[in-house]
This record gives sequence, structure tokens and C-alpha cells, in this order.
Amino acid sequence: MPEPINIIFLGTGAAIPSLRRRHPAILIQYKGDYILFDCGEGTQIQLQKVKISPMKISKIFITHWHADHFAGLLPLIESLHLSRRKKPLEIYGPEASRFIDALIELSYWGIGFEIKAHDCNEDEKIEKIFENDFYEIYAIKVKHSVPAFGYGFKEKDSWNIDVKKAEKFGLTGIQMRKIKEKGKLKIKNKIVKLEQVAKKRIGRKIVYSGDTMPCKELFEFSKKADLLIHDGTFIEPLGVERPHSSAKEIAKLSKKYKIKKLVLTHLSRRYKTTEEVLKVAKKFFKNTIVAKDLMKITLK
Ligand SMILES: [Zn+2]
Repeated sequence: MPEPINIIFLGTGAAIPSLRRRHPAILIQYKGDYILFDCGEGTQIQLQKVKISPMKISKIFITHWHADHFAGLLPLIESLHLSRRKKPLEIYGPEASRFIDALIELSYWGIGFEIKAHDCNEDEKIEKIFENDFYEIYAIKVKHSVPAFGYGFKEKDSWNIDVKKAEKFGLTGIQMRKIKEKGKLKIKNKIVKLEQVAKKRIGRKIVYSGDTMPCKELFEFSKKADLLIHDGTFIEPLGVERPHSSAKEIAKLSKKYKIKKLVLTHLSRRYKTTEEVLKVAKKFFKNTIVAKDLMKITLK
């Protein structure tokens, strides 16, 4: 069984927050890592509600520099500083270094830990911006009124040794480990390939759009994603002067691109119930959820 991936929706509202929907922030928890996508006003209070220490967060990915997506950074950094954080904090986003420098300028503090800013490349449509042994993170250029990125979390594919098959080839435990590392192994003058003794497990994929109008590149990247978390500000499209998405358009595209589960977020406060949004979306794509603050999804 693969390790579960937890996704916690800390804030699911749009530009003006409400008592029911705070500003955007989504936390992914996997393999001991806590990574945050957007950090709207009140993110640290929302973290307290779900009993997660902000000290655990290693990376923050900001989709764009509109205040509803980043205004929680300043107080969060202040709390980390007062909690004597020493571990560096990495912040990714379009022109991240410029905005982080400006944020730090706004206060008298001498921050006791390093903030490493990573600028997403605005000339690239899709760029791998982080990788470790278990997963990769991609920045995907999206369509908003200012430079903006969506982010893709892609777990690496893995191989599970079929012990019965491996025994047929006479493999020892050490040889099984070697074949997993190298992809093949020479045993008694015969090459045994990994695919002969193991089964491939495709890594899980989660995509977060940030604020955007429907964007082809984002959907192409999201094809067959386990979870697509998408801007669903409105129910029906409202035209280019509102550079967001509607539940109707995104539900249609999710069906076309074979998304496994769609979560609509960043809902306008004009909608008083999730049912009115859900009713329209479900007409086009059944496996839709409307996000709620503090909602948790576990991918097994
Ligand atoms: Zn927004």
C-alpha cells in the first residue's frame, strides 16, 4: 500500500473572504513533508484549527501576487521567527525574490532563519521546479490578469517486486534490491529485467490551478490526475474582464481530460450554498466536490 497523501483545504474563498470561506491556502502532507500552496490572510489561524504547526512547513508555492493569495505570509513569517525557527523556508512563485524582498522590508525584524526565494520562469509553459526521491513539483503558466502559475504535484512511479516471480528467477533479497536500483541484473549469464519480476505503480498526481481562466496547458498536464483543485469562482463564465473560471466550464473539461476527482475552490461570496455550484458542475462531471474550509482529502 502506498503512503497516503493528505490534502487540507485551509481557505477556499475568493478575493473577499467571509466567515465561511477564508482566503486561499492548501496544505499537502506526504512522506513527512508539509508543503503549502498559497498563503492567504489567516492561514496560520487555520493551521491552528487543524492542529498543524507552521514550523513543519518547508516550502510555500504562491500562485500569484494578489493579496488574497499571499497576505498570510508576513504574519506567518513573524510567528516562525518568534518560535525561533532555524530551518530555511523556501518560497516559490512568479518574481518571488522581488516580492519576498519587499515583504521583508516591511518590518523591523531581523529574521532568524533563511528565506530562499525561487522565481518561476515566466518564459516556460511547464517547468519542473522541485524534485526529491519521492515526488516532483511543476509550475504551469496559467491565464490570469497578472503573472500566475498553477502547480502540479507528481509522485514518482515505483516498482513493487513480485516475490513469487523473483523466486522463480532465483533472486536473493540483495539481488532484488539491486534490480530495483538498476532496472536489470545479470544472473548466471542471463539478464533479468525489472519488469519481469516487478509491477509498476503509476505515481499519483495532484494539480492546483490557482486563479485562472480555463487553460489548455493546465488541463493537458492534468490528464487523468487523481485530483484537480481548480478555480471555480463563478457558476457560469463571466467574460474576460473576470479572468477566472466557472464551475460549468471546468466540469466539462474535467470530463474531457479524464480527471478522477475535481475539487472546485476559490468560490465567490455571492454563492450562499455549495449546492447551487455543485448542481451545475455535476450535470457535466459527476465526480465533483465543492471545497469547504478545513476539508481534508486523503489519497490512498
Ligand atoms: Zn484570488
